[in-house]
Amino acid sequence: MAEVACVTCGQTGEAIATPLFLGKLEAEIKAKVCTGCWKKWEGMRVMVINEYQVNLGDESGRELVRKQMKAFLKLGEQTDSSKIAENYRPPNV
Ligand SMILES: [Zn+2]
Repeated sequence: MAEVACVTCGQTGEAIATPLFLGKLEAEIKAKVCTGCWKKWEGMRVMVINEYQVNLGDESGRELVRKQMKAFLKLGEQTDSSKIAENYRPPNV
């Protein structure tokens, strides 16, 4: 069983083995996030979509969900859940 040092919970956990259909983000998430944290985000995603009444057929809706996901999974992009900073870009490390 593959393991991953998870940036979300700070522990080593089981790597995600299923396809996520996330394009460019998929490799990063699989390298940095454990299955348990991903499952938590899947639950959270439903709440985000309901909370913001996100239309996933819309690019801006998908972008909002992406930003919330990165914030939730601690993938480096800081996002206030009540206000989306459109122009913020994290420094390259
Ligand atoms: Zn984790």
